Amino acid sequence: MVFRPASHPIHVAMVAWILSNQAALAETPEYFRRLIDEAGVSFAFYDPVQEPRVHRGYTAFRLDMSYEASFQFRWEDGAAGRNVTIQTHIGNIRYSLSNRVELPQYLDKNDRWNDSLVRHEFDHVAMTVDPRVRMLFEHLCRKVAPISRRLPLASPINDAVVKAIIREEVERRCNAVIDLLIANEHALDVATGHGSRQLADRAAYFRALLLEPNLQQHNFPYLVEVNDLLQTKAYQEAPLPYQ
Ligand SMILES: [Zn+2]
Repeated sequence: MVFRPASHPIHVAMVAWILSNQAALAETPEYFRRLIDEAGVSFAFYDPVQEPRVHRGYTAFRLDMSYEASFQFRWEDGAAGRNVTIQTHIGNIRYSLSNRVELPQYLDKNDRWNDSLVRHEFDHVAMTVDPRVRMLFEHLCRKVAPISRRLPLASPINDAVVKAIIREEVERRCNAVIDLLIANEHALDVATGHGSRQLADRAAYFRALLLEPNLQQHNFPYLVEVNDLLQTKAYQEAPLPYQ
């Protein structure tokens, strides 16, 4: 066959490409690949000489949530104003999570995964995908009703006004969870000197996050409302993302 000698090298090249591609993928350990995927990680690199920073690495997360609310409302006028009571059900809660990890330029390479700074930044990332964060959000959204508000007399009450009140209430609850997460991110930096020291017992440290003493320590404003969630087996034994 005339074609065979020509096609043979092409075939070899294809195999070589597939093998080298697999080798590149294999360089990112499964733990990091999973976090990159689940936590929407993007990387940025800076030149520590040209752009010196206070800390060598930074991780910032962004959490966006959407939901659907069905509701009913009634109001009564009293001497002090218009008292509105809203019954609502929050459903179809969706999250979009992203993390931006900023590292010095010398770590812009495929074999960065054993570096202690990278591992530290990924502890921050892992905290954002701790399933207990989502459980707290969902529990607080489910418990949102009934909402009571006192508005000035003769204030208009319509669907738009009620939706705005519900949104404010949901956001307040979400922000409480986000504030708790940020407080725990800072506490990790204090405990590890921004990753320069190892935790004495990593598993125990991360397991203790988001449990009752941790919520008390950070003055979590909805402690009473989440108390029943904190006692559940699903919460206490949630599979954690930390390595
Ligand atoms: Zn840190």
